[in-house]
Amino acid sequence: MSEANPSKGPVIDPEFLKILACPKCRAAVAWESPSSDDARDDKLDGWLVCQGADCRLRYPVREGIPEMLIDEAAPPR
Ligand SMILES: [Zn+2]
Repeated sequence: MSEANPSKGPVIDPEFLKILACPKCRAAVAWESPSSDDARDDKLDGWLVCQGADCRLRYPVREGIPEMLIDEAAPPR
């Protein structure tokens, strides 16, 4: 795989994003593009970041699929 496309936009439909919620605190989530730290994970499209003030867990989106699982979430940056 040599797909060099580090700045692709959200792969999640905005209407779909509206109905997603953090499984931990039920707050809304927002799209975040991958950072250079994420470059090793070539299946990672980006993150869905919890907007809850005390939560902010980051859920990975891989190959277009949001992984909305607390066990898969990354801590806030
Ligand atoms: Zn949350």
